[in-house]
Amino acid sequence: MVLRVKFTSTAEPISHDVIRQMVMRAATVAAQAFTDVEQAPEGRLRTLMDSHGEVIAARGPAHPLSFESFLAMLTGDLAGLLPDGVSPEEMTGVHLINDDGLFEEDLFDLDQEQRQVAWAVQKATRDGRSTSISEIEQEMDQVTVNSGLRKRGTQEAYTKGRSNLSRFPTGTEAVIRRLNLPSMVSQFYRPISFAALYEQWWFACPVCHWPMKITRHRSRTAVTGRAQCFYRPHAELMGASYTFKVPAAGRPPTLIPGSPPPAFTGEASVLAPDLRGSVPKPMPAAGHLALARGPWRYTTVPGLLEIALYDALLARGFVAASEPGKSPAALGADADCPGSVTLWPYLDAYDLHVDVWLRDGQTKSFLLDIKDFTSEMLLAKKIQADGGDSGGAEWIVVPDHRQASLPLLRGVCKEFPVQVATAGEIGQTICRTAGIRWA
Ligand SMILES: [Zn+2]
Repeated sequence: MVLRVKFTSTAEPISHDVIRQMVMRAATVAAQAFTDVEQAPEGRLRTLMDSHGEVIAARGPAHPLSFESFLAMLTGDLAGLLPDGVSPEEMTGVHLINDDGLFEEDLFDLDQEQRQVAWAVQKATRDGRSTSISEIEQEMDQVTVNSGLRKRGTQEAYTKGRSNLSRFPTGTEAVIRRLNLPSMVSQFYRPISFAALYEQWWFACPVCHWPMKITRHRSRTAVTGRAQCFYRPHAELMGASYTFKVPAAGRPPTLIPGSPPPAFTGEASVLAPDLRGSVPKPMPAAGHLALARGPWRYTTVPGLLEIALYDALLARGFVAASEPGKSPAALGADADCPGSVTLWPYLDAYDLHVDVWLRDGQTKSFLLDIKDFTSEMLLAKKIQADGGDSGGAEWIVVPDHRQASLPLLRGVCKEFPVQVATAGEIGQTICRTAGIRWA
């Protein structure tokens, strides 16, 4: 079967994309207000009315929508808010509010991803007309973080700063200060967010170490608490999901792990985190800081995989290089060394550069960019808008848990000089080329 997906060509008007973005943004804000019981009712109502106005503007005069219908649709399928004739695409089947009456976390990802696509389209078409899209760039915290890190200019400083954002998405004020990050970056370390607090305590995700979301669930007989990573794959596939009994007043809760998720096997097993036996302990909110959500989601989370892949190759005998293309002699490598690996080469043009030194004296290079999009549809659009990879990578690598997105992405990548693989597959391919074992 040939997979055909219709995408908006960069040469055509992007109005349906813009309608989806406007509806998405307004509905996200509305769903947050709708479910945020801590906020005063007047403030919530004002936000809901403003969001309703924006959805009406996006739908246009031919598709009116009453405030009552708008509220009713907030708890249903997000696609229902779009006017007839606009395909829901990445919004298909997305709910704003989940069965527990809580704001759906994936919306944050879809919203950010839509903005990344809009930005890529904007760059591709070199169309300076839309001011809203140039503003997007300024809004994107992770772009600010990256340019802040690049300002220091050296590869070593960039790599150290960037990996610290993955290793320390939270920490005490003293620990964060010692990271010595540029102020443009350190400004994104803020007090622990309300959504991650149980009274004055918080719990770090065992995978990414960012504060987990705390919710309370009321049944007929009892109230139970839940702690889950805000990044859905950590919660659902890697075990960052716990329950707790409401403790006595003034005491912190004790987390109880859920049933363990199925283990990753084969080539995907290498990079899977091993969390057996580690249950997060309560941490005091006072004196602790955490990265803002954008930089955590788009720098810390994918960075964990970039670093894991880099470390796995070093563990298999590759040598670290500050830049690609150095000879074994220049790096002081042994005769049996399989090659060199550079993390975030050329100040992050792409994520990993691997040189495999073949027996005949030739070098086979792998230029990897890791892409962790919640919506495969939006990632496919971004690849199209970028004409492959914007930084010149030859492989787009997705996390092992996103293997199901490969057929769609491979279909899109056919027209560009770029291939797609999961992280486990690319590790396997690199090691096979070098004649060594991956898994
Ligand atoms: Zn996590």
